[in-house]
Amino acid sequence: MGDKVIGIDIGGTNLRGALVDSQGNILKRMKILSEADQGIDKLIDNLTNFISDISKGEKVTNIGVGIPGILDSKEGIITQAPNILNVNDYPLRSVLNEKLGSALNVAIENDANSAAVGEWWMGAAKDVNSMIMLTMGTGVGGGIVLDDKLWTGAYGMAGEIGHITIYPDGARCNCGNYGCLESYASATAIRRMVKEGLEDKKLNTALRETTENVHIKDIPKIVMEAAGAGDSFSLGIWQEVGKALGIAIASLVNLLNVEMVVIGGGVSNAWDLFIETTYKEAHRRAFRAPMKRAKIQRGILRDDAGILGSAYLALKSCNEKRS
Ligand SMILES: [Zn+2]
Repeated sequence: MGDKVIGIDIGGTNLRGALVDSQGNILKRMKILSEADQGIDKLIDNLTNFISDISKGEKVTNIGVGIPGILDSKEGIITQAPNILNVNDYPLRSVLNEKLGSALNVAIENDANSAAVGEWWMGAAKDVNSMIMLTMGTGVGGGIVLDDKLWTGAYGMAGEIGHITIYPDGARCNCGNYGCLESYASATAIRRMVKEGLEDKKLNTALRETTENVHIKDIPKIVMEAAGAGDSFSLGIWQEVGKALGIAIASLVNLLNVEMVVIGGGVSNAWDLFIETTYKEAHRRAFRAPMKRAKIQRGILRDDAGILGSAYLALKSCNEKRS
């Protein structure tokens, strides 16, 4: 197979992508600002320019695009993407076909699903057939690969592991529900835990001085550093994170008997501070035999997971068209 495809990962800040061959080698990579906060038209302009630039001089017929949101991946529609865009039921695939030509095959997928496929294809889970990936960022994304196939569900919306309930009366989640995994294991969750802790004026913690007026993306790193320096309140936060992850993983392993659970995303940089709690909690709750065989691993592709996953889905649509 000599196919080259483009894998793209759209985020709230950056639009990143690469030209990738069928073996998963990244041949060329580019990054621009997504400017998603300026509306869908601006984002589409940036995306079409990006695709034209990166494919210059190459014959590319297939692209894959990862987007944070609920998508109808089969129909190529962004159903809801509240974290980046105020759009509902936006027909991304047909818009790209209109702008770039109807011959272009466009695969769209939720960004966390793409990251799961990336780690399964080229990363930590490349030797297994069934895996789950959790991406800990501002929220918690999830993706499920079963028997070498991304599990997308009936309408392409499966894998929202961040919104399974961990504590029925727990903290309110951005989705409107209470006690979701995302409310306990994301940057948003960590910011909430810090804020709630600091309301106790007697609490002695280094975070009182260091977390004021800090961007949400930087909070996990500050709490990680404070925990590393022995701040007991910060250490407790990571135990909360680890416990919630462990509760989720126990249910997921009981349900799906996967070979591996991969954990990635920026918040997972604090791995050493939470993974022991996660491991203990998962083993305490799950059935012994499937949990014993399920490896819990850290993702290895970092930001490339989503790009490579999108590229894989693009390659797959090449092959589907051909057969
Ligand atoms: Zn939720």
